[in-house]
Amino acid sequence: MKHSQTLIPTLKEVPADAEIKSHQLLVRAGYIRQTASGVYSFLPLGNKVLKKVENIVREEMEKAGAVEMLMPALQPADLWKQTGRWYSYGAELMRLNDRHDREFALGATHEEVITSLIRDEVKSYKKLPLTLYQIQTKYRDEKRPRFGLLRGREFVMKDAYSFHDSKESLDEAYNRMHKAYSNIFRRCGLNFRAVIADSGAIGGKDTHEFMVLSEIGEDTIAYSDTSDFAANIEMAQVKIAYEKSNEPLAELEKVDTPNAKTMQEVSEYFKLPLEKGIKSLLFKVDDQFVLVLARGDHEINDIKLKNALNATSVELASEDEAKQQLGAEIGSLGPIQVSDIEIIADHAVASIINGYCGANETGKHYINVNPARDFNVSRLEDLRFIQEGDPSPDGKGTIRFAKGIEVGHVFKLGNIYAEKLGAAYLNEQGKQDIMTMGCYGIGVSRTIAAIVEQFHDDNGIVWPKEVTPYDIHLIAVNPKNDEQLALSESVYQKLQDNNISVLFDDRKERPGVKFADSDLIGLPIRITVGKRANEGYLECKLRESGEQFDIHESELIDKIN
Ligand code: ATP
Ligand code: MG
Ligand code: MG
Ligand code: MG
Repeated sequence: MKHSQTLIPTLKEVPADAEIKSHQLLVRAGYIRQTASGVYSFLPLGNKVLKKVENIVREEMEKAGAVEMLMPALQPADLWKQTGRWYSYGAELMRLNDRHDREFALGATHEEVITSLIRDEVKSYKKLPLTLYQIQTKYRDEKRPRFGLLRGREFVMKDAYSFHDSKESLDEAYNRMHKAYSNIFRRCGLNFRAVIADSGAIGGKDTHEFMVLSEIGEDTIAYSDTSDFAANIEMAQVKIAYEKSNEPLAELEKVDTPNAKTMQEVSEYFKLPLEKGIKSLLFKVDDQFVLVLARGDHEINDIKLKNALNATSVELASEDEAKQQLGAEIGSLGPIQVSDIEIIADHAVASIINGYCGANETGKHYINVNPARDFNVSRLEDLRFIQEGDPSPDGKGTIRFAKGIEVGHVFKLGNIYAEKLGAAYLNEQGKQDIMTMGCYGIGVSRTIAAIVEQFHDDNGIVWPKEVTPYDIHLIAVNPKNDEQLALSESVYQKLQDNNISVLFDDRKERPGVKFADSDLIGLPIRITVGKRANEGYLECKLRESGEQFDIHESELIDKIN
């Protein structure tokens, strides 16, 4: 590709709204441009990288036995109503009406669409297992779109869905996907870890997140310094609580709260005035007060109850001390009357809200609970968060924390969606059975940003080999010089003839401008045609190491290969 023919609008200045390196560099080096908040155009270079990452994903998906398809972004509300997510997904789901006033959503994810499709098309165990995937644009009206491609409102995701007639078959697909994900992120050059995303009752085998280690990551990973144990910190905290869960001591009044999984939903059932924007809650266990602070962008009311302690918890001895802290946190809201603590156990969706507490059963809550009285919560550490320095839950080593960017997520869905949408099949015995499902997502556009976070220096991006938009940056120092022009044209041709992709800077710009742009753009190898063009010599510079050497044009292809 000739620079003069394409569009690479590089910038000297750091864009004012770009806080992190990947955002700054992808804009400055002419890969992306913002069209609206959280919505980006991929310029020619950005599009190249996107296709490179997509192709790695495709190759590894196909190897894992997944088959590509494409589903619509425009999805009828009815499907989302059938699973209940029309109501529970919240403001992140982009909604719109057509000219007949029928409701639609822009796909934030595709469980509804694919499950209803498979329900209609697959009727027998003979067609199972089946794994389908797509690489497609997703829409999520994120509360805080930011960091460029890291958290967009329109972004590219690879999502895969698997359908099974047994748990064992799902386990197999899940393990294959897990492996495929490791291959994908390894090929992207990334330093990543697969972490337990939800300990659940089964000990964290049912969902993993793939985290790219990075200071700017929005997630915190707790990992063991000696073993393989690694978990999303929110989940690691819950895990400990799970291990020490308790049954109620007394008969308690149980009420139905179907589908209430978030603090918001529970508060609606009980008509509690749960203010928006609550960042902290105070509760009491035995004689200890505990202050829970929602972390980062979270508010306590939009945190899933199971993870309600998604937070930093501060243990405080006296009520005064606790109230003081709480008052400082939430200002005018004043102390909230929260006297109960979540009792986390197998099916509890639970709460820490005004005397209502999860009843160890999905869709039920106890009312008027006093945990210290009604539950055997004798020790505060039963519900304590994992801290740095704690012994690892697997008994091996010590817990350390690190920041991570979630680039992928694999999940055993079970039959929740299949049940709600009626995805049944005839099993080997000729009986109707509900399908078992898995789902597997990769943030393709987010992965690009994660790569740049890990691969850059002061001068620009340093692309790993497999994802670079072009292999070679060919620069004619002075294209007005006939010898230089002729040699660079012939090198350009030769590289292409040998299937080596090349960006040829044929512009009539000062050499300094070209070199600076070249560093910024970040292709692995730079070849400069300059002073020694008359002898057929080229100057080679490796972007990563800075290593520089002259090479004769006749040896170039061999050397590159
Ligand atoms: P996050 O916790 O960052 O909001 P998520 O858990 O909501 O992500 P999933 O529903 O698991 O995301 O979607 C699968 C993948 O899609 C994520 O692992 C992530 O890589 C990517 N992704 C999710 N939201 C965004 C976004 N707003 N912009 C870019 N990529 C995203
Ligand atoms: Mg999200
Ligand atoms: Mg997440
Ligand atoms: Mg996720």
